[in-house]
Amino acid sequence: AAKSRGRNQCCFYEAAMDLEQERLMEMLAMTQQALEQHSLVMYYQPVVSRPADGAAPETGVMGFEALIRLQHPQQGLLTPASFAEALDHPRLARRIGCFVLEAVLTQGEQWHQRGLPLRLSLNISARHLLDPEFLNDLRQALAAHPGIAPAYCEIEVTESAPMMDFEKAREVLQHCNALGLRIALDDFGTGNASLSYLQKLPAQTIKIDQSFVRDILNDPRDFAIVAGVAKTAQMLGLEVIAEGVETVAHLQVLETLGCPVMQGYLFSKPMPAESVPAWIRSFNFKNYIDNSISPTKL
Ligand code: C2E
Ligand code: MG
Ligand code: MG
Ligand code: MG
Repeated sequence: AAKSRGRNQCCFYEAAMDLEQERLMEMLAMTQQALEQHSLVMYYQPVVSRPADGAAPETGVMGFEALIRLQHPQQGLLTPASFAEALDHPRLARRIGCFVLEAVLTQGEQWHQRGLPLRLSLNISARHLLDPEFLNDLRQALAAHPGIAPAYCEIEVTESAPMMDFEKAREVLQHCNALGLRIALDDFGTGNASLSYLQKLPAQTIKIDQSFVRDILNDPRDFAIVAGVAKTAQMLGLEVIAEGVETVAHLQVLETLGCPVMQGYLFSKPMPAESVPAWIRSFNFKNYIDNSISPTKL
């Protein structure tokens, strides 16, 4: 009986693995098709901070992070959660990365030419960053869009690239800096070697992961971690961006912790490029704070 149960369990696991394998294959096929049919699109989420006293409201818009979406014929607009493995897959990572570079630099150049000198952040997968062709891809994309200076582009990398090949990642990022681009360490603190990366990688920005921000009001450990990262960043002369800012309470505690640059649903969800100019015109940091005034006081 034990033997047959063992065999059944084995078949059960095999069937589950087959299903998982099948799901992965379908997802890769879906993403490849989207790439070929031009149904990958970039959305843009603002990065903001409080403008200096007396400065125009739009000076509080630091820039935008470009986030990829897949326009599916039946399922509608999909976020990377539905095709995450494709972004880092050997067969697709470079093609997707080149699409993102081209799409974002085209858009950025257009905004710059129309008087919106925005800083744009792009997410680059570890696989593409470590690809021998990455720097060529980057140089080519920059050369094709002289209307946006490299200083307005920031490359966001997670800890996975340096975890895979630290020396190679460091070297590639140094080349990026030499080309004039900024480097941001994304999802900071969620990997396992954050502080040594901070010590050794060339970076100008740290993005504090939303998992530390979410409970910052209730969890003293999250509070301590964010306070510590903000302080460390300041002492190292790095910019720090808090991700996942969803409430006015988040905003207020982040400002008191010396973490004035923020990104999150409180300000806006990622939006299509067409919505960006009007969003900037209507942006006013003060409005978010005034919203916290209770209706009885108004
Ligand atoms: P990420 O780079 O850390 O991007 C931030 C994610 O948090 C985005 O999810 C954004 O929509 C979401 N977010 C922003 N504000 C809030 C908030 O207030 N609350 C909550 N709950 N979430 C918020 P998204 O767009 O689904 O992207 C997920 C991840 O997929 C990104 O994380 C990034 O690692 C990856 N990704 C996105 N676009 C690209 C791309 O073009 N290329 C590559 N290689 N990866 C990408
Ligand atoms: Mg990012
Ligand atoms: Mg992040
Ligand atoms: Mg993330």
